[in-house]
This record gives sequence, structure tokens and C-alpha cells, in this order.
Amino acid sequence: MADFDAIVVGSGCAGPVAAHELATRGKSVLVIERGNFAGAKNVSGGRLYTHALREVFPNFRDDAPLERRVVRERISMLEPEAGLTIEFSDEQMRDESQDSYTVLRAQFDPWLVSQAEAAGAEYIHGIAVESLIKDGNRVTGVSAGGDEISADVVILCDGVNSLLAEQAVGTPRPSRSSVAVGIKQVIELDEHVINERFTCSSDEGAAWLFMGDATHGHVGGGFLYTNKNSISLGLVVTVADMVEADTTIAQLLEDFRQHPVIAPVIAGGAVVEHSGHLVAEGGYNALPTLIGDGVMLAGESAMMCLNAGYTVRGMDLAIAAGMHAGRSAATALDNGDTSSKGLGSYVKALEDSFVIKDMKTLRRFPDFMEHTPRMFSTYPELACSLARQMFLVDGTPMKPVRKKAWPLLKDVGLFNLLKDARKGVKAL
Ligand SMILES: Cc1cc2nc3c(=O)[nH]c(=O)nc-3n(C[C@H](O)[C@H](O)[C@H](O)COP(=O)(O)OP(=O)(O)OC[C@H]3O[C@@H](n4cnc5c(N)ncnc54)[C@H](O)[C@@H]3O)c2cc1C
Repeated sequence: MADFDAIVVGSGCAGPVAAHELATRGKSVLVIERGNFAGAKNVSGGRLYTHALREVFPNFRDDAPLERRVVRERISMLEPEAGLTIEFSDEQMRDESQDSYTVLRAQFDPWLVSQAEAAGAEYIHGIAVESLIKDGNRVTGVSAGGDEISADVVILCDGVNSLLAEQAVGTPRPSRSSVAVGIKQVIELDEHVINERFTCSSDEGAAWLFMGDATHGHVGGGFLYTNKNSISLGLVVTVADMVEADTTIAQLLEDFRQHPVIAPVIAGGAVVEHSGHLVAEGGYNALPTLIGDGVMLAGESAMMCLNAGYTVRGMDLAIAAGMHAGRSAATALDNGDTSSKGLGSYVKALEDSFVIKDMKTLRRFPDFMEHTPRMFSTYPELACSLARQMFLVDGTPMKPVRKKAWPLLKDVGLFNLLKDARKGVKAL
């Protein structure tokens, strides 16, 4: 008999949810997390869409450590000394069926753990799973901290760049273009200063994405999220592009902090946290096999993350995948069949859910980003130049907007513009 019904590797967003679902169904489950506490090593820009969380924890609003509800959406195209910003706000952002909150993982992840523990899951922190134990093709347990622990099913929730997925189902290591490197600072600022700078109340705030000079034209973008007493500021750039770059991601962030659009927003703030992490960018085409005999993959260990340019989503996907993995594993345990066939309901549940459906819808987007460098340099510059022509007045006789726009459009090439627009529309 195995030591546990199930072992969950990793306690980010997917792991505790999978463990919670198993424990509430009466299964013995052990979660092994390499960090000294949950969230110690985890990074998100910081915006969580609540729909998946609500399905598992309907009363999460009572005590989950949420920072601010996002009620203001901004996207900026940056030139070195200029920025053109689109802002969107909508009363529907306050609708509980579709709202989103900023979160800080060092607080949010321990809360998820407390829910799993309250349901009966057992936890070990500070120990990494070094390898999987296999009997032929079947995963029968894990090797961690010099011990071998057996289980009928092992759920890998160990995040992007999983070292165990290859052993589990033969997933090759991610390619340079299917992962990006993220860097982030949490900058402490007085709550009222944030309220004033973002014209919002204490419980509400903004999500702000940047393209163009935020990354000096490299494939990726910048982000800024308002927390209660801090701002999360960072960048994400594909590894393929960063390897070729003549600068470092740390220098890019330093330059981003000095940008005239950013500097006044973070002025007077103190950096209280600095972190870096990979993020899956390959989309649907990078999804690996999700199950094997005695093993399942959930969250970013299976590259589940969605970058649509205007939103970044990994946490809600991981929570939903953890939920389906936990529920399907419990059913397979009840049926006495945790082979790949017995765990098959997990794949079906994911395919029927937003996780796979949304990834499929955006399957062309990663390729569009990688092969349309003008998105990250030429177009933000074009937008700012056009705005400059429209909004600066020096007393010389003005030209109609079409005459101002034409030389700029000619520089880009109308054909390139139409081709990229067509590709972009198809990708989204
Ligand atoms: C810069 C950045 C910005 C982002 N912004 C957003 C955003 O705004 N909104 C959003 O929804 N998503 C965002 N994401 C993506 C999001 O953070 C991830 O998709 C999400 O955290 C994935 O959850 P997960 O549970 O699969 O993995 P993780 O949260 O990464 O958790 C994996 C866990 O496994 C542990 N682990 C790993 N290996 C082992 C091992 N061998 N043994 C034991 N434990 C192990 C790790 O320590 C970690 O705790 C962002 C990511 C980055 C890097």
C-alpha cells in the first residue's frame, strides 16, 4: 500500500487547490514545496481574475489577502521621452462575476495553503522533490530530501521549467522562444499617495501594461499593478530575445523606472522586494502531454499561461487546472484506476473548460509576437509621433491630421502595416 493516496509537488497556485480538492474528498495527500514557505519563490505581476478561485472557495472574499480590485485598465505605448496611454474603466469591473484583484504571492500563496491544510492536506516545506520514482512507465512516488515516498498518483504543480515533467511524460525542455524572463520590484508607497496618483479609493486600483520603450523594443512588455501600500513594477522579455540583447533585464528595469511616464508614479517609493522568474509564453502549441500512468501535470508545469498582449493570465489557469486535477485524481482513486486511462477525465475536463479553450483561441498569438518586432518598436514610436503632431502647438500654421499622418505611415510602409494588422487580428 502506498504512503499517500496522492502527492502534490509544488505549492504555488495549482498545488494547494489540487490538494484541497483531494482532501475534501477524503483522500490522504502530501504537498511538498521546496520554498521555506509557500510563495517564497513565486512571482506574478500581480493580477488575479477571481472566477476560478470562486469556484473552489466561494467565500474567498471573507479572508483571502486581496490587495485592490482592478477598476482601471491602462495600456501605454512608449517612446524614450513620450507615452501614449489608453485608459478603460467600466462599472462592470466591480461585478463579482468578472472582477479581478491585485495580489502579492508571499501573502496569497500561504492563504491557499491554509485552505488545503484546513481540508486535511499535509505539508512539507523547504524540501525539493529531486526525482520521480517509477516502476516501468508508471510513476509510483517521489524522492525528496533523501526519502522515498510513495503514492497512487503524483500531481506535478512545480511551475514553469519543471525539472520533473520530462521524467513524468517525456516533455522536452522548453525552447528559448516559449519562455520569457520576468523581473519585478515591489515599491512601497503610502496608501493615500497611491489613491491620489491613480484617482481611486483605498480598495480599488489599476492594471497598467506597457509596450515599446519599456523593453527598449525587445519582444515583451512592462507591467504596473497597484497594491494597498505598494506598486508592483516589472518587465517580461522572451528568453530568445534577451539572449541576443546587448543589455541585461536588470538594466532594462532600471531604465524603465527612469522613464518619464513611470518616474513620477513611483517617486518617493522604496523597493521592498525584488524578484525574477520565468514565465511560459509558448501558448497552446507548447502544451505537453498532461497525464501519464500515476501522474498528472497542472498549471505552468504544463505551460498553462496566456499572454494576450493586453492581459497576462497564469494564476486563474493554474487554479482551475489544480481544481480539475484534484477532482479527477479523487475519482480515479475511487475507481481504483490511476493509470493514464483512469486519469483521462482530467484532460476532458480541461478541454471543456476555459483553460484549453482560451489557449486554443490565442494559439497564434505567441508566433505573432515573436515574428512581429515592429509591435515593440516601430508602432509605439508611430503612435507617439502621431500624438506629438496632434497635441503640440508652436504657432506655425497647422496641417490636417491626414497630412501629418501620411509621412509617418509611409516610413513604416502601408503594406507592412496592413500585413501586421491582418496577422494581429487573426492572432487575437
Ligand atoms: C513576471 C511575471 C508576471 C506575471 N503576471 C501575472 C499576472 O499578472 N496574472 C496572472 O494570472 N499570472 C501572471 N503570471 C503567471 C503566474 O505567476 C503563473 O502562471 C502562476 O504562478 C502559475 O502557477 P503554478 O502553481 O503553476 O506555478 P507556481 O506558482 O510557479 O508554483 C510552483 C511551485 O512549485 C515549487 N517547486 C518547483 N519545483 C519544485 C520541486 N522540485 N519540489 C518542490 N517544489 C517545487 C515552487 O517553489 C513553487 O512554489 C506572471 C508571471 C511572471 C513571472
